[in-house]
Amino acid sequence: MPDHTLPPGATIGILGGGQLGRMTALAAANLGYRCHIFCQSADEPAAQVAAQTTLSAFTDSDAISAFAQAVDVATLEFENVPIVTLERISGITPVYPAPSVQAVAQNRLKEKTFANELGIATAPFRAVSSAADLRSAIAEIGTPSVLKTVRMGYDGKGQVAIRTDTDPEVAWAESGAGPDTGGGILEGFVDFDCEISVIVARGTDGDSEAYFPVENRHANHILDETIAPADVSATTIQRANEIAIGLAEGLDVVGLLAIEMFVTSSGEVLVNEIAPRPHNSGHWTMDACRTGQFEQLVRAICGLPLGDASRRCDAVMKNLIGDAVDSWADYLADPRARLHLYGKSETRPGRKMGHVNFLGRPLRD
Ligand code: AMP
Repeated sequence: MPDHTLPPGATIGILGGGQLGRMTALAAANLGYRCHIFCQSADEPAAQVAAQTTLSAFTDSDAISAFAQAVDVATLEFENVPIVTLERISGITPVYPAPSVQAVAQNRLKEKTFANELGIATAPFRAVSSAADLRSAIAEIGTPSVLKTVRMGYDGKGQVAIRTDTDPEVAWAESGAGPDTGGGILEGFVDFDCEISVIVARGTDGDSEAYFPVENRHANHILDETIAPADVSATTIQRANEIAIGLAEGLDVVGLLAIEMFVTSSGEVLVNEIAPRPHNSGHWTMDACRTGQFEQLVRAICGLPLGDASRRCDAVMKNLIGDAVDSWADYLADPRARLHLYGKSETRPGRKMGHVNFLGRPLRD
């Protein structure tokens, strides 16, 4: 067994208590690991299933240091853990993916610049730090375009559509962009045919394993369905995989990297966003692949060999958002469906309460 292997029985620290942490902790437990969750409340989805919890703020440096000392490796399931917090932990125990990867992924300007430097296309973009800046960026990029916050935006939050008649003053105020969000970024609007994603796992030895590209369909800016595999050309599949592996290697990721991409009608593949963690568009892998994304993350950060990421069957993943979760009994009665609920006590509109994987017939080897 190589030196950097953490054997079963070791403790994995997870920053964040949401469903991604919950499903990672369950996969870790299956391989004999213990998980210690750092989150705010004992009722959060991951805290409910973990061996240990620290309930504190990410800015509480004493609690963070004690957590780092209590775990053998740390990872995160939540986008916006402050970089100083991650650096404090990595001074005590390994953090995967590293704080340097998180620093790129937390900043839309950095992530697009990084991709472009590797020869990977994105929508055209400009940094914007005021309404006056926005006016000149619109003149350069043109309309339609999208104004986003550089940091902290997800599921369409902090995004404003810019059209020919948009008043830059109003749009700037509406976006909420400012010093707290690292300013704004204006992106050209991509008239895409479909949105796809690839999740790639990379181990401590630099080995990588990518899941097949999938198509993602959104409703109200939130992922609604993932269709596995994506119905795109062989050239698009190859390009999407090259992009994913290129970014994972370029960033020197250990763990998982999810890459969301636009596919245009001319077959161009543009990177929209990266996330160095398990991803909602990878939930289908839990039931439809030989190794699911959560187990793969545990293998990668513990220095174990990566598992086989190939498909056992096609699948459609449906998110259960808000009161859609009330149909849980129907899904249990459906022989094609695998139900995953996150244990959230309160149902709210727009809240991800669980998901269902609808499985196709087994594929032949
Ligand atoms: P994001 O928060 O960047 O992942 O954006 C959320 C969703 O908004 C994406 O999944 C797209 O459907 C849409 N979107 C974001 N940026 C663009 C863009 N530049 N052009 C077209 N659609 C976009």
